[in-house]
Amino acid sequence: MSNSVPGVWTAPDGTTADRISAQARRRRTFAVISHPDAGKSTLTEALVLHARVITEAGAIHGKAGRRSTVSDWMEMEKARGISITSTALQFPYRAPDGSECVINLLDTPGHADFSEDTYRVLTAVDCAVMLIDAAKGLEPQTLKLFQVCKHRGIPIITVVNKWDRPGRHALELMDEIQARIGLRPTPLTWPVGIAGDFKGVLDRRTGMFIRFTRTAGGATAAPEEHLTPERAHEAAGIDWDTAVEESELLEADGADYDPETFLGGTATPVLFTSAALNFGVNQLLDVLVQLAPPPSGQVDIDGNRRSPEAPFSAFVFKVQAGMDSAHRDRIAYARVCSGTFQRGDVLTHAATGKPFVTKYAQSVFGQQRTTLDSAWPGDVIGLANAAALRPGDTLFRDVPVHYPPIPSFSPEHFAVARGKDPSKHKQFRRGIEQLSQEGVVQVLRSDRRGDQSPVLAAVGPMQFEVASHRMAAELSAPIQLEPLPYQVARAVDPEDADFVGRQPSAEVLTRSDGVMLALFSTKWRLEGFQRDHPKVVLRSLVAAGDD
Ligand code: GDP
Repeated sequence: MSNSVPGVWTAPDGTTADRISAQARRRRTFAVISHPDAGKSTLTEALVLHARVITEAGAIHGKAGRRSTVSDWMEMEKARGISITSTALQFPYRAPDGSECVINLLDTPGHADFSEDTYRVLTAVDCAVMLIDAAKGLEPQTLKLFQVCKHRGIPIITVVNKWDRPGRHALELMDEIQARIGLRPTPLTWPVGIAGDFKGVLDRRTGMFIRFTRTAGGATAAPEEHLTPERAHEAAGIDWDTAVEESELLEADGADYDPETFLGGTATPVLFTSAALNFGVNQLLDVLVQLAPPPSGQVDIDGNRRSPEAPFSAFVFKVQAGMDSAHRDRIAYARVCSGTFQRGDVLTHAATGKPFVTKYAQSVFGQQRTTLDSAWPGDVIGLANAAALRPGDTLFRDVPVHYPPIPSFSPEHFAVARGKDPSKHKQFRRGIEQLSQEGVVQVLRSDRRGDQSPVLAAVGPMQFEVASHRMAAELSAPIQLEPLPYQVARAVDPEDADFVGRQPSAEVLTRSDGVMLALFSTKWRLEGFQRDHPKVVLRSLVAAGDD
């Protein structure tokens, strides 16, 4: 490390803190949280379309009828039409003030069974877009994911989607957000025309009418016109007047945008869109670049914030294997927290102190991989050949740092795994170890059960399907799973482990990270035990749901 100007860090390649700071400031890293079917894939395509990276919607996700994916082990993903794998999209966007921004959009799994994966992705974003179906309002998966964002204090922008279809009243949806999740909605736009008759939006910051025009199939960016209130009244009549009236009601109620409460996680700006018709999508991009926070550094295990201008650091938030049959490798996705990264840099892996060579760094655009040459705070690097990296691991350069581990979720489903073919004992062990390292399932062991029959623990049963599928198709060690009758897990201290393990309908096992978990058949058993033995400390783990 060299310091040419006192107090200003200069990287060995001559990159100054100012340059890193400027790159960090132009970046926005976010994820969309929603219930399946709210329109996340459609919105993602529309966002990229607007940013003009692709010219025609439909080139990113591998859903039925769209361009197919290269993923083979995720055939089940195709069959179910759900998105299990996670991708990181990066695209440039010119802000309304003309500045060139860079958007990083991290995809999250859509199914509740993969909420632990989603949680890991959400540790890597600076902002979340909560996407709501106008007809359905807040749905269970949205609520769960909202809790995760709240837990992490991530600012949330709310998007009410599918306004082109009949749905609920806009004011009623605002009430629901306030009442059910305690976030104060502060609409930035307000719909002109009821749900199902989407004429455009009132831009509450300028008072202008943004009128939308339908295009065939919504395949190109929808043209929009900006009309003054007088012209808006001529153009949209009673619908405009109603929008103005309702906006005034909101204003009287103090529901105007306020940066402090948004960034503090107590209020949420709201936009109305039709992702399918590409209405309101560019307003979302504008709001992201204008209002969402840029990368601001990361707090390490000692509670110190490492600023974005500090030497390079990143943490792994996702490890994924078998994405492509041509490359049977693992990709570790790392979010850059500070400094600059050049492909080929030799980093240090904080967990082992060993060097990590990054010759295979990639950026992953949809299912396509391209070589990545440099990255800045907020960016996601895909590191291939990353056998040593686990979710939560820190990588750094020059000045050591250790970021806190990503907490594991409290599992709610348990099953004993046994190899179907006893001669493949080695593959079995290796495969189980790999699934554990990637965080596909948690792996628990005990002397009593032995090494040949570890217990797999999951937040949702579909994680078991993924584990089985991968063990057979990719790791050449098919397994059978025998469900165990436990529903709750608590961390227990080693000195109490024997005692707890002797209770009826309970068992104690050790997770691969060394934490001892006490499993109970039901919540009532657990509560009964706690009542009878108040001195035994049982600690809650991060819950996936709102229990
Ligand atoms: P995801 O499961 O959240 O990724 O949802 P998709 O993007 O796959 O959308 C689910 C369905 O809703 C698809 O049939 C979309 O065409 C449709 N859809 C998405 N956005 C809109 C919208 O704004 N308006 C209408 N009418 N349909 C939409």
